[in-house]
Amino acid sequence: MKCGFPVFYSPRFADHNTGAMHPENAGRLTAVVEYLKGCQKKYEDVGSQELSWAGKIVWVEPSVRDVLEDVCRVHDSDYIESLKTFAQKGGGFLDADTVMSSQSYALALLAVAAWLQAADWVSAQGSQAFALVRPPGHHAERSRGMGFCLLSNAAIAAHYALAKLGAQRVAILDWDVHHGNGTQSLVEGNPNIAYCSFHQADAYPGTGGANETGDHRNVLNLPMAAGAGRVDYQQRWQAEAAPFLRGFGADFMIVSAGYDATQSDPLAGLCLQPDDYGWLTQMCLQLTPKILFGLEGGYDYRALAESVAATIRCAVQGA
Ligand SMILES: [Zn+2]
Repeated sequence: MKCGFPVFYSPRFADHNTGAMHPENAGRLTAVVEYLKGCQKKYEDVGSQELSWAGKIVWVEPSVRDVLEDVCRVHDSDYIESLKTFAQKGGGFLDADTVMSSQSYALALLAVAAWLQAADWVSAQGSQAFALVRPPGHHAERSRGMGFCLLSNAAIAAHYALAKLGAQRVAILDWDVHHGNGTQSLVEGNPNIAYCSFHQADAYPGTGGANETGDHRNVLNLPMAAGAGRVDYQQRWQAEAAPFLRGFGADFMIVSAGYDATQSDPLAGLCLQPDDYGWLTQMCLQLTPKILFGLEGGYDYRALAESVAATIRCAVQGA
């Protein structure tokens, strides 16, 4: 019998204030938390078996801990310092679409702390955990924030799992609709980390061609044509992603869990449904039980909340 399913989340993430008109705003997490708590309440009130997964959720407030050593494994210290200074001066636009407020530096570090505590849990329990955080991370490069991202949460967690948790081989599956240029660039030099990304071929940031295979053939990019849906994902999972990931043989898996490949997402043009993330979760569980899910994108509130729920439901129910 599995113990609870931890979701590492803090209401403080709302203080990474990008403005209500920004697609990556505090309302995203509020929508997910309200939806999950609504499912929990319904389960407690009615006891419906259908919602028993929600009864397993354990909310964990990430503790503020010193993550700078872990952050500096992948980012330049000058860049970290510049983020700190920028926030101290009140923040502003780092680039055309990446915004910081005065709290954003502290909260980017808290987001890393949440990912790393989720990694600790995954390692210690041999099961799954979810880091429900913002800002997201997979576009952030060694010394540049971009695409709503400041620190590369997934790459930091992958290097941390190798350095501190005794993991031997870490696989990252990035199912956000955008290619994780930052993550890829920060892990492809390490033969003990694999990176596999499903993303929309012509979408931001324009990287992630199938010809990018990493320094050790440890990168697999699966660009999807606009309009692609579950059947397309299933075909490419079976033909390409599963053999790549199985062949790599990870003992620790990280999912860069962005939910902007849903049909209703305003920022992209793929056609997954929320339940399809449940299927993807089941596929990951066939590879290893040790899976850290961490939030990246997803900009349609309803689809985002239902997709996170589908991920947790299938993780709790098992492969
Ligand atoms: Zn995205």
